[in-house]
Amino acid sequence: MKTLKFKNGDELFPIGLGTWKSKPGEVKNAIINALETGYKHIDCAAIYGNEKEIGEAFKEVFSKGDIKREDVWITSKLWNDAHLPQDVEPALQQTLNDLQLDYLDLYLIHWPVAFQPGVPMPESANDYLTPQEAPIHETWNEMIQMKNKGLVKHIGVSNFSKEKLEDLISKTAEVPEMNQVELHPLLQQKELFQYCNHKGIHLTGYSPLGSGDRSEGMKQENEPNMLEKATIKKIASKHNVSPAQVLINWSAQRGTAVIPKSTNPGRIKENLEAAHLQMDQEDLKELAQMDEHYRYVTGKFFEVPEKGYPNIYDE
Ligand code: NDP
Repeated sequence: MKTLKFKNGDELFPIGLGTWKSKPGEVKNAIINALETGYKHIDCAAIYGNEKEIGEAFKEVFSKGDIKREDVWITSKLWNDAHLPQDVEPALQQTLNDLQLDYLDLYLIHWPVAFQPGVPMPESANDYLTPQEAPIHETWNEMIQMKNKGLVKHIGVSNFSKEKLEDLISKTAEVPEMNQVELHPLLQQKELFQYCNHKGIHLTGYSPLGSGDRSEGMKQENEPNMLEKATIKKIASKHNVSPAQVLINWSAQRGTAVIPKSTNPGRIKENLEAAHLQMDQEDLKELAQMDEHYRYVTGKFFEVPEKGYPNIYDE
């Protein structure tokens, strides 16, 4: 399986473990299990509320000595309430403390939206900072400082459209190394994919299995279940693998990273083993035809036109 290569020579194994919605009491075992199963890539975020418990797992595994910190790629994300330049380093320090780490491999700006400091989830427009009050390129410049200080090895963004990347790049000295966005056969984002390839920005695909464990309030009516789609099931049975493995392999063979979430030991193993699948041209052609630009994570919940956030994904 191809790794993602970075300018400084670092390499990222594409299949990682997602941790959004991984519950307290479950996430520690899931991380230990994943690392012992062979995962080399874990995706975290401050807002997931479970970094402390993930940190306990890292400490336990790394202190045993068989698996070394430097052999695992650990990503985390700056939450939307810490975009003001003076708030970036404290937020990063909190994440490092919680994860019990000296450095992150990758730190991402989680969303192109700023909240008032200390507001985890906005309840009204007053809880937002406008793009003028918290210019995203100033947040980015502070991310560059975090890299220069050695607290993070790589920096990037998440949920950025091509337009938002272009705007950021025009105002700053360093191009993001990663953009983490929703990607799967129903949302292939070919234009963004090409743009990022052209600019040397890697992509990580989130919600690769359709994020079925989101709360009902986050779901739209009649959401498609990718694991039950006829094309996915047909390709899975042709290769004697699971539908989830087809979806995960699709992302990885495309050259992006992919971070399926699971806390179930069997599914954690199954998802990593998706690396071994070899799909043929016919399979890939059929998967390419599935694109319907369907988003599970619509981003609508952060759209507040009067605060300067009319359209998260610019579409
Ligand atoms: P996923 O698409 O990874 O789906 C997770 C669901 O799939 C869970 O219910 C899980 O259940 C189930 N599942 C896992 N493996 C299998 C399998 N082999 N067969 C059947 N079902 C399976 O959803 P997420 O939205 O969690 O996305 C993945 C990760 O991406 C997140 O956890 C997070 O780290 C990141 N993310 C980032 C975002 C951002 O804004 N940057 C937004 C959304 C996600 P179980 O645990 O019981 O196995």
